[in-house]
Amino acid sequence: MSTKNEQLFAQARKHIPGGVNSPVRAFAGVGGTPIFMHRANGSKIYDTEDNAYIDYVGSWGPMILGHAHPKVIDAVKKAADDGLSFGTPTPFETTVADKICEIVPSVEMIRMTSSGTEATMSAIRLARGYTQRDKIVKFEGCYHGHSDSLLVKAGSGMLDIGEPTSKGVPADFAKHTITIPYNDPQAIKDCFEKWGDEIACVILEPIAGNMNMVIPAQEFHDTLRAECTANGAVLIFDEVMTGFRVGLGGAQAHFGITPDLTCFGKIIGAGLPVGAFGGKEEIMSCIAPLGGVYQAGTLSGNPLAMRAGIAMFEDLTAEGFYEDLSAKVDHLVDGFQAAADKHGINLRTNKLGGMFGMFFVKDSTTETPKNFDDVTECDMDVFNTFFHGMLDRGIYLAPSAYEAGFMSIKHSAEDIDASIAAADEIFANMAKQ
Ligand code: PMP
Repeated sequence: MSTKNEQLFAQARKHIPGGVNSPVRAFAGVGGTPIFMHRANGSKIYDTEDNAYIDYVGSWGPMILGHAHPKVIDAVKKAADDGLSFGTPTPFETTVADKICEIVPSVEMIRMTSSGTEATMSAIRLARGYTQRDKIVKFEGCYHGHSDSLLVKAGSGMLDIGEPTSKGVPADFAKHTITIPYNDPQAIKDCFEKWGDEIACVILEPIAGNMNMVIPAQEFHDTLRAECTANGAVLIFDEVMTGFRVGLGGAQAHFGITPDLTCFGKIIGAGLPVGAFGGKEEIMSCIAPLGGVYQAGTLSGNPLAMRAGIAMFEDLTAEGFYEDLSAKVDHLVDGFQAAADKHGINLRTNKLGGMFGMFFVKDSTTETPKNFDDVTECDMDVFNTFFHGMLDRGIYLAPSAYEAGFMSIKHSAEDIDASIAAADEIFANMAKQ
């Protein structure tokens, strides 16, 4: 790594804990120095010495149209000219709300927030207020942002710090969070049998993207829907990562499940700070000012984020957008798989729409991971070697074996072929050792 980057990191650590404003950026799992970026365009991000990297992180999902998309940038510039924030309702919020309700039929009403964390935290409070119950159910390895009740056995950066539950979460909060294994229908049945009439809600990533990418079985979703309905619990899909990413209708369209509430984030502001939660009118009507569940935000529905989102939705809803996007993912992931097979590397993959996962399993008979325990069994050393090998070759993957990969519509066949060639070289070197 260049001296300049090392200096930037040293400088950052002086006044910013760990030199980063969000832990997964710190390369804690993979080792080494995080690379400081200063600009991005299309499929690429550029470090402070202007070296290009083909980017498969895409700001952790939102850059589905590629970085600095002219239409989005233009919308933001125009919005900025009109003022940054009014603290009043704007017509742009209504346009985005209408668009999401049109695309995602389970969402009858929606409220904007400024982050995914706020969306999930607020959805949980709403579910508790609506049901008048306290307990919530979540799944091992799922991450739903950093609010207290949800940092119990969570995924993402929590997995790098080696704490099952974040320090600072009072035991009195954590005791209301029940955590069960992902993708296990029997665990859901057992949980409802034990606590059925005390459970306010079940929250999950309907396709997990914070323990790498795990696509659960249809039976898991069918069981969840049935048990929540039978027991009067609110089913919350956290589609902060999967919404408008695995397909236009998100994971709920893929599985044909109607959740009671859905959380969105990241993507709907095309890269500006935003989140949202929405769902059944009957439940959403419990929020202030209509009802007694309080939820608010000075910058919620910020005009820059809304106008960026409106511009982005135009492209997402265009004919063939997701077909093109998933063809790119197929090209990349199938290429990685073929290269791994050629060199005898035990790679397993998952993919859907514009999202993919890669697991280096320990032997040739091991199947694609189906839950958090399977994911932790993967060979982290092999992942780290792969990650750094790719980085050295100008390809930027998420700096953790617990994160998913993201494709943008701007990734070209050349970008993808270059990525596959780099992987082939790394696998060949691994095979020699
Ligand atoms: N839910 C999921 C599924 C996420 O992936 C994330 C962020 N990675 C969040 C919630 C929290 O979103 P934010 O970081 O915007 O607070």
